[in-house]
Amino acid sequence: MRYRDLGKTGLKVSEIGFGTIPILSGNVPVLPEYFSPDLDEAVEIMMHAYRMGCNLYDTAIPEEYGDAEYKLGVFAEKVGRENLIISDKARFMDGNDMFREVLRSAETLGTKPDIYFVHQVDEKNEDEVFSRYGALDALCDLKKAGMIRYTGIATHYYSICRRAALDERVDVIQTSGNILERGIMDRISENNNIFADKGIILNKVYAAGCLLNVFTPSELIGGTLHWPFSSALIGIGTREQADAALAEYPPCDFTFEQVSERIAEHYRPIKCTRCQRCICPRGHEIHLLLRQYNYFHLGKRYWAMKKMRMNIDEVYESCRSCTDMACMNECPQKLMIPEMIGLIYDMTR
Ligand code: SF4
Ligand code: SF4
Repeated sequence: MRYRDLGKTGLKVSEIGFGTIPILSGNVPVLPEYFSPDLDEAVEIMMHAYRMGCNLYDTAIPEEYGDAEYKLGVFAEKVGRENLIISDKARFMDGNDMFREVLRSAETLGTKPDIYFVHQVDEKNEDEVFSRYGALDALCDLKKAGMIRYTGIATHYYSICRRAALDERVDVIQTSGNILERGIMDRISENNNIFADKGIILNKVYAAGCLLNVFTPSELIGGTLHWPFSSALIGIGTREQADAALAEYPPCDFTFEQVSERIAEHYRPIKCTRCQRCICPRGHEIHLLLRQYNYFHLGKRYWAMKKMRMNIDEVYESCRSCTDMACMNECPQKLMIPEMIGLIYDMTR
């Protein structure tokens, strides 16, 4: 296992971290394909990963990750708390709520988390999170009180990664990316002067598992290693998955074209990198719809169709009457966005 610096925290984290969604049990709407191991089995899987050199374990509160936080706490005690770095998160934007949740997490874990993230910060809630007495201020207070060691922002938006990078209260940023949806990490790499002091934790390397239908773990992990992240999280629910995720893969340099060509052996992908440069004045988040199109064809059919149907009618009508099509001005892929929206609209009929 190779290790990387977690920004300026002084911590060295394993290049691959353990995502705990697949070891959870319970009825929580995270991902449909989890394995529900019992406590002993879950601890054994985490121990197996530890023996392979993994030292970063990422979890979230019970409403989001079921009993994964509790199972991780049991494992931490067994392996020796000082040997692990625990990152935890909760989706609360208000400072008081966040303060309470961190204390509850410490109780569930039976130990203090090392890094705590405000989870799923987006463009609607970011001002509350970053405002005075928002969730980020609460994390700073908890850090001063010794309840956590480092603060974090977890987001799927480049603009929020950037805002977090420029905010001295933030120690670690968690965001998503893979060899297909590479836009955020490419932009972080291009602006590494802004991000250099922050730890970066990457998730969605397998794109919720669906890229495994086309690529091997070696390709998916090796293809991300050139990015300046500290640790890439892989969801692990079996010993075999641990073996596949934690093998020491060499970096490989897939171009976006090569990735698209390989996917095109299965269906014709929309060549969107999710860089999020397509700003729509009417507020439509185009990259989400384009992602759902790709996820549908990569095997997440039910989930993607449900998501697309949520707002495709509204977006389609908007695009039909749009004259300036401002979203296309900055698209590096030169995608004909209204045409793509039409394609998705037809698909959902
Ligand atoms: S075509 Fe117009 S309405 Fe449609 S996403 Fe682009 S800017 Fe927005
Ligand atoms: S449509 Fe273009 S600008 Fe928008 S996220 Fe995709 S690649 Fe980026």
